Amino acid sequence: MSGARGVGVVGGSIGGLFAAALLARRGHDVTVMERSRHGLARRGAGLVAQPELLTVLERVGRPDAAAVGVVAEERITLDRGGRVVSRDRTPQMQLSWDHLYEVLLGQIPPESYLLGNAVRAVRSTEVSAEVQLHDGERRFFDVVVGADGLGSVTRDAVVPDGRGNRYVGYVTWRGLIPEQALTGRAADTLLGRFAFYTGPGAHMLGYLVPGAGGELTPGLRRYNWVWYRPLSVVDLADLMEASGRPVGSLSLAPGDLPHAARERLRADAHAELPPEFATAVDAEPEPFLQAIVDYVPPRMVRQRVALLGDAAVMVRPHTAMGAAKAAGDALALADLLDRLPVPEALDRYQLQRLPVGRSIAQYGLRLGESLPFARPARQPV
Ligand SMILES: Cc1cc2nc3c(=O)[nH]c(=O)nc-3n(C[C@H](O)[C@H](O)[C@H](O)COP(=O)(O)OP(=O)(O)OC[C@H]3O[C@@H](n4cnc5c(N)ncnc54)[C@H](O)[C@@H]3O)c2cc1C
Repeated sequence: MSGARGVGVVGGSIGGLFAAALLARRGHDVTVMERSRHGLARRGAGLVAQPELLTVLERVGRPDAAAVGVVAEERITLDRGGRVVSRDRTPQMQLSWDHLYEVLLGQIPPESYLLGNAVRAVRSTEVSAEVQLHDGERRFFDVVVGADGLGSVTRDAVVPDGRGNRYVGYVTWRGLIPEQALTGRAADTLLGRFAFYTGPGAHMLGYLVPGAGGELTPGLRRYNWVWYRPLSVVDLADLMEASGRPVGSLSLAPGDLPHAARERLRADAHAELPPEFATAVDAEPEPFLQAIVDYVPPRMVRQRVALLGDAAVMVRPHTAMGAAKAAGDALALADLLDRLPVPEALDRYQLQRLPVGRSIAQYGLRLGESLPFARPARQPV
């Protein structure tokens, strides 16, 4: 090892914790600064168990966490009437995001994970990096890892004036409901399967994930649905304004959506989706939204700052590889910081990981282009 380093991690979600857990395990002095005041416990849904995730869990000595997941026995495609028009009997597991978060959090000393620490700016020189917090406090590190997601402020220290996400013209509406909220035909068709529907202006999928406490027992799990729909830039801005979100917002959290818009979404679900999926939409009292954006920068490293996960390169969710990419970034960064002086380690990190991020982003773009959104977006919900 090339010496213990002081590492500041901006953002304490899955990506930041992959890096923090791996680096702490190797003896580095890690500080995670997370904006959320109350932590992210019980916020997540499911994650595909990609190899990079399993490798991180092995490296931190918790391969058992990969067993906390729900297996969908087959993939089915529905038509508009709810008939199953294709079946693929390939099982797929959804790991518990919440359990993974708890396990990773348990790998770093509690005093190293600082909640309510919103970072305002990051600055770097050739020899150290400075983090400025919103309360005015300044902290100095040998390396700063920007794992602060798609609204990253750390990007400014790496790609000045290049922070912009490009909205791609469609959003995901999402819901996460107790599985028992689905009954009758919806339960018979959807539970235990990875289900898809693609029709005019709509692409939808849904699957079971563990309960918020990692529960795997039937009856205690949750059903996660994801509904892709086109939405023009203007309609997106109007929706954000109607929901009381700041100008330029790209997401709505549970509870943000006004009642009238929520009712329109319900009506649209019945007009556009198979009845089983419309039932799932009905069952979610507080749907949430994420606008889909692309961000592929020219670099992910500058001086003593490295970007990781969604802050580094955004990949579209169709790839189901966002978390795996963040895990791959963290594995590479931890290995290189272990073996090399910081400048060389960060150069190599970028050389290894930027092409991977670009390639996954391209794959996501191709998948996105195959969605049935060729016609202009309709009315906002
Ligand atoms: C609809 C949808 C479905 C998805 N499905 C999958 C899937 O099935 N499989 C998969 O692998 N990936 C999926 N992803 C992607 C995945 O969620 C992310 O790619 C992955 O979690 C990596 O995120 P991250 O940690 O880099 O960033 P994030 O999870 O966005 O975390 C950023 C963190 O930084 C914090 N933060 C932000 N700004 C600041 C600041 N200024 N100061 C301090 N803290 C800050 C935030 O509070 C947050 O905790 C999906 C994404 C979407 C939108």
